[in-house]
Amino acid sequence: MSGAVELENFVGGHWVRPVATGRLDVPNPSDGSLLARVPRSEAADVDAAVQAARSAFPSWREVPVAERARRVLALRALLESHAPELAHTVSRENGKTLDEAQGSVRRGIEATEFAASAPTTLQGYFLEDVSHGVDTTLLRQAVGVVVGITPFNFPVMIPLWMAPLALVCGNCFILKPSERVPLSAVLLARLIGEAGFPAGTFNLVHGDSAAVDALLTHPGVDAVSFVGSAPTARHVYTTAAAHGKRVQALAGAKNHLLVMPDADLDRSVPAIISSAFGQSGERCLAGSVVVAVEPGADRLVERLAEAVRTLTVGPGSGADTDVGPVNRADHRDRVNRWIQEGEAAGAVVAARGPVPPGSEGYYVRPVLFDRVLPEMTIAQEEIFGPVLSVVRAPSLSEAIAIANRSRFGNAAAIFTRDGGAAREFVHRIEAGMLGVNIGVPAPAAYFPFAGWKGSFFGDLHATGRDAVEFYTRKKVVTTRWF
Ligand code: NAD
Repeated sequence: MSGAVELENFVGGHWVRPVATGRLDVPNPSDGSLLARVPRSEAADVDAAVQAARSAFPSWREVPVAERARRVLALRALLESHAPELAHTVSRENGKTLDEAQGSVRRGIEATEFAASAPTTLQGYFLEDVSHGVDTTLLRQAVGVVVGITPFNFPVMIPLWMAPLALVCGNCFILKPSERVPLSAVLLARLIGEAGFPAGTFNLVHGDSAAVDALLTHPGVDAVSFVGSAPTARHVYTTAAAHGKRVQALAGAKNHLLVMPDADLDRSVPAIISSAFGQSGERCLAGSVVVAVEPGADRLVERLAEAVRTLTVGPGSGADTDVGPVNRADHRDRVNRWIQEGEAAGAVVAARGPVPPGSEGYYVRPVLFDRVLPEMTIAQEEIFGPVLSVVRAPSLSEAIAIANRSRFGNAAAIFTRDGGAAREFVHRIEAGMLGVNIGVPAPAAYFPFAGWKGSFFGDLHATGRDAVEFYTRKKVVTTRWF
């Protein structure tokens, strides 16, 4: 224990020891060993970061946008040259495989590239002669001090959805990363500092709910971008809004994958397995319920079961690992309770995967459930583990109705060769991110990312043009010259 790294906050361009004395252990999910100890920052630590950001704001917003974009390009180059180290850190503290970690780092770099296009995306518009001799201009300006509160499952990608774009729009930024994966955030802070962003423009405050609550209620914070679970998203949305802040809160999910009888199973089954079991199911876009449209469910379940039995479960660093550990021991226990509850409710276990014997890591045996009823809790609640439930439906329209009864609406997909079925699905499904023969329909960073219904609280989605709108305020100028 004594050798574990004690982490610090990054405030005003310096690494500082927080005033708060509380610390949390950060274990390696693959073997339970201690990686670091993260501070539980309190109101005084949050206030120091907000003050630093507020002091940096007046001069940062005056820096021409092309110069701000050049810093983002410098950051992009640093992210690229440090991509292996970033992926290794993500895999080590999150538990996902190196391959998955590399993919997520690439997605973060993509978001940084989008941010660099600010001299184009920040442009406003102009209309001549709205009245005789009167012209109107719309321009965009920075919001001020923006906070990003991020979850444990994408320790590099999600902070990079937020920080480069918020900064290039002329804001100052405070990152409050998940206390379960703080090491990736430390590395990001180092690289952002090296990229030449002035002191105080980017700050990092470690901690848990106390730090979050201090940020949500601090009068010096103007906007909050949040990604995490549904109960926390609701709390963040209502509290930040009640304190007069702009807020977007991306929340939990229960994603349905509809499989038509005509689906190409040779290609669909690997896509479904990767969606449900990749990253141990700890993805907001993970397919969690397959809705098998009859006739065809027997054939599909047989193929899925065969694939689940042959999954390799092991440490994130393992070259052959398909499914790494889940992030925490208590989460492993919670997922196992969901599995027991599914069996008790009458769902049929169609297949189980293996776990590495005798390991101290937080491994869950992957499970495929068949004959799940839509009203069972395993078909309704977000399990966030390597568990896939198959619900059988008599028709496409019943399959869509089952998916639409979910209180979540993050993502959904259909597997079919029938363009008419796919169109019907796209038109009628109630979710924000859809896939047609794609198991993880993650929009590229230049499109908006968010769900519908209980999966999202707010108006403007993350990434893409929505994010440019979120990180800026509009000013409309009506002009007449005498
Ligand atoms: P979480 O809600 O536990 O934590 C997210 C952040 O909120 C962390 O920084 C944490 O410190 C903070 N937090 C946690 N509890 C809090 C509380 N009571 N008060 C104030 N702050 C609190 O989420 P998680 O477990 O880290 O992440 C997994 C969840 O995130 C899943 O539900 C997943 O679906 C969701 N997620 C959603 C998206 C999306 O795009 N919709 C993307 C990724 C993850």
